[in-house]
Amino acid sequence: MVQMAGCVLLDTQSRILLLSRRSPRQLEMPGGPVEVGEDPVISAARYTQESLGVLVTVTGELASHDFQQDGKDYHFKWFMAAIVSGAPQSLNPKYDGHQFFTWDELTHRDDLSPNVKNIVSAVDDGLLAQLQSRHRRTRNEVIIATHNQRTRRLAERVLDNDSKAFMPLSFTCECSDASCSETVPLSVEEYVAAHSRTDYFIIRPGHEQTDIERVVACYPSTGQSRYCVVEKQMIERRTPAV
Ligand SMILES: [Zn+2]
Repeated sequence: MVQMAGCVLLDTQSRILLLSRRSPRQLEMPGGPVEVGEDPVISAARYTQESLGVLVTVTGELASHDFQQDGKDYHFKWFMAAIVSGAPQSLNPKYDGHQFFTWDELTHRDDLSPNVKNIVSAVDDGLLAQLQSRHRRTRNEVIIATHNQRTRRLAERVLDNDSKAFMPLSFTCECSDASCSETVPLSVEEYVAAHSRTDYFIIRPGHEQTDIERVVACYPSTGQSRYCVVEKQMIERRTPAV
């Protein structure tokens, strides 16, 4: 049994990004065999980067299915992922294009890989709703976190050490609510300390969504807190070199 891993990447209309393979002529999800000792999450993100030139953050494991091709047995894990940087481009010569497809379109095509056939038949309304909700929330969080990183880098360049430690800056709340535009006052040093792990985010107190995140700590811990650090319950590992 060959272990495989790949990414489900959706656009804002919940269409899925697939690659067009030259031979055999079929539509495939970005992915490939998991190397010995490799975390499947990393494999999925790595293949996506190699074939499409985009850095992704994997936000959760969706499901896994078996299929057969050319007499071999494969076990494919599907991961939900969001693009962190870059625009998709076909980098692997095995493929001559890539495109977003609606799920309806895919049910009528006969050039799907066995793995894509599996995911199309697994996507009922429940799974699609789950995909859409995860996609929206993750996309929001990735955009905000990137924006805040830029604010931090700029502040680090222009502020002296005292200001870095004590001057409160307006960072944008990194909660999962796409309509939230509140700011969180914290110094550059506090911001850096709060992001000691890639799955830690800063939010306004009370903005946590307990189905996908856990409050690690709020600061200050007594009286009225200015901000809280949450740990996303989802898998939140990035490809290297972000
Ligand atoms: Zn918020």
